[in-house]
Amino acid sequence: MKTIKELISEGLTEVSAAREILRDENIKRVYRECPELKEIDDQILSVRNNRFIAVIDKDERLIRRFDIAEEELQAKRDRIMQINKIDPGFDMIRSICDKCNDTGFTKGSDGTLKVCSCRKRELEMCYEMSGMADYSSYKMKNYRDDYLGDAQKRKRIRNEFLKIMLGISEDGNDSSVCVYSAPPQTGKTFLAVSVCKTAINLGKSAYYAKCEDLPLLGTDTLEDLKRIDFLVIDDFADEVTLFKNVGSVLNSILETRTASKLPTVLVTPFPKNELVSKCDMRISAKLASAKLISPEGR
Ligand SMILES: [Zn+2]
Repeated sequence: MKTIKELISEGLTEVSAAREILRDENIKRVYRECPELKEIDDQILSVRNNRFIAVIDKDERLIRRFDIAEEELQAKRDRIMQINKIDPGFDMIRSICDKCNDTGFTKGSDGTLKVCSCRKRELEMCYEMSGMADYSSYKMKNYRDDYLGDAQKRKRIRNEFLKIMLGISEDGNDSSVCVYSAPPQTGKTFLAVSVCKTAINLGKSAYYAKCEDLPLLGTDTLEDLKRIDFLVIDDFADEVTLFKNVGSVLNSILETRTASKLPTVLVTPFPKNELVSKCDMRISAKLASAKLISPEGR
């Protein structure tokens, strides 16, 4: 899988080519509108080439002559530019995106870096590559606090989820594993996908996977899941951990991630206690000390 930073940096070559094309077109347009300027610029270029040869010949007298010639041409050029109201920077390379100066990231008023709107394509591509191809409409801005009643509760849950993603710990529990437990049909997947997309939007590497699909992911992806900044495992259930080799795959992911203190959220409709007692043994040991996000609070 590719991270958003990698996707943006791959696009830089393309952006820089586009910048040069834009510059060339701009120069052509200005010369077309003002052939006089083109003539002067050609003359300046020719004077400079001749001066270059004079420098090699160490012909001081000639060098001086070319210097004077260039000065005169420059003065003439300045006048032409002024009369025709030509932007003095018309032949400079300029950023295509003023918001991010083509870096792909903008700084918000709170100082956080976010993917610039000019990189929407890379962002969508990254969501798709990060397990969220089926959830194109799931976005944080569409998460409604008042959906299904209790707005305060939904807001608290969303903020707790975001804090886990950002690595903010307030309750003294420094476990990097978190269980988000809430009844079915309460919008868990929507929130999980939205937080995962927010992580990518902030330049982090993140992945969303259904627990039962873990054994279907390629070895490379599974290795990536051990190292990415943020991981969400949805539809987590004790039964699934006993199915095929889900238990061992998940255990190995959690082992590495816990050692590096990388946050992982397990999303489930079941109560945490029930999971601890019924899961694959290796997993339940890790669940016992996990943080909990739930509508009931702690
Ligand atoms: Zn931009």
